[in-house]
Amino acid sequence: MSEKFDIAVIGGGIAGISVAARLSKHAKIGLWEQEDFLAHHSSSRSAAVFISDYGNSDVCELNLITFSELQSKYPNILKQRGLMSLENKGETGKFNKHAKSLGLSPISVIEAKEKASIIDLKSVKQAAWRDDVFDIDTDLLIQTLRKECLSNGVQIFTNSAINKIERNNKKWILNSKIQSEILINASGAWADGIAQLANLKPKNIQPFKRSMARVEVDTSDNLSSLPVLFGSDDTWYAKPDAGSMIVSPADVSPCQPHDAWAHEEDIAMGIYNFEMMVETKVIKLTSNWAGLRSFSPDQSLVIGPDADDPNFFWLAGQGGYGFQTCLAASQIAEDLLFNQSPQVPNNLSEKFSPYRFA
Ligand SMILES: Cc1cc2nc3c(=O)[nH]c(=O)nc-3n(C[C@H](O)[C@H](O)[C@H](O)COP(=O)(O)OP(=O)(O)OC[C@H]3O[C@@H](n4cnc5c(N)ncnc54)[C@H](O)[C@@H]3O)c2cc1C
Repeated sequence: MSEKFDIAVIGGGIAGISVAARLSKHAKIGLWEQEDFLAHHSSSRSAAVFISDYGNSDVCELNLITFSELQSKYPNILKQRGLMSLENKGETGKFNKHAKSLGLSPISVIEAKEKASIIDLKSVKQAAWRDDVFDIDTDLLIQTLRKECLSNGVQIFTNSAINKIERNNKKWILNSKIQSEILINASGAWADGIAQLANLKPKNIQPFKRSMARVEVDTSDNLSSLPVLFGSDDTWYAKPDAGSMIVSPADVSPCQPHDAWAHEEDIAMGIYNFEMMVETKVIKLTSNWAGLRSFSPDQSLVIGPDADDPNFFWLAGQGGYGFQTCLAASQIAEDLLFNQSPQVPNNLSEKFSPYRFA
């Protein structure tokens, strides 16, 4: 056996990197990523927004725990931006429901215009707002956690797919040459496939594609001070990014795990819906992409030991909130794997247990 580890992490996205960093003080860890570099898939394709009320009530608890640690330990990662939801049909019931789900408060359309000069008051019928929504510097977070991993001795193997998993003498044997006591499945959209490679039952983690476009708009207004803008009908959202805007059609298309790309019609629809609500026009599509948001059947993350083999540890189902939950998720992993006095309440860890789908 060429290499022996205490813990093997499969997946070099935010889930894998954050758990490897967290556990690196306890154990000899190897992390395997099939692509040439870390965060090739979902973790480099997100909108990079932190909204504490995004996700179900259990997920929101993870958001708050992650927020608190980000602020205390990694103070350069979050920058306040604010979020505004816009409605154009006068459908108050739907608008209020959307605003409530994201913890927004109604504001007048005049106030909305003051906060986001590009919006078109001929279209916007209602608006709602919250201040405490943040940009997440996802690149910086990944690089910071990667450095933490390396300085604590984690070995990171890129361009290294795990395609064979065997059990021998209570050890995991990966690709016939790597031995590990514990296997952490942080493989994002591929999580069910990794479980099946290990002869364990999948948890019905379903990837959904979401697309994004980077566009230039014809305005002299300062884009960088705009809030995140959301269509309350969930047909688009947009935010400033490095002098441009990124616009998503908020698509939710179920698919198989793959290197996702955006369909032209989805991108066109997102831009059309955005343009309906603003005075400015999109003058150039600079780039576009898509990523996979992978959800468990109840939309909560799956964190913990597998019911059939406790040395197979799930860290999957990060959905549309993998960054804003990452530090709480890795803390649950540390609590469960090292039986230390829990930093996250026990009853919270139980809510994410894979046992609920056993
Ligand atoms: C358009 C979009 C917008 C989003 N916006 C936000 C947002 O604003 N805020 C937020 O918090 N989240 C957001 N998300 C969600 C967030 O990006 C994901 O939840 C998060 O990136 C998932 O991280 P992950 O590590 O689980 O998956 P990934 O980043 O996909 O990482 C999994 C890795 O496992 C590797 N892998 C798989 N199989 C193997 C194998 N056999 N061997 C080795 N390696 C393997 C893959 O190559 C991949 O790199 C968004 C996602 C999308 C697509």
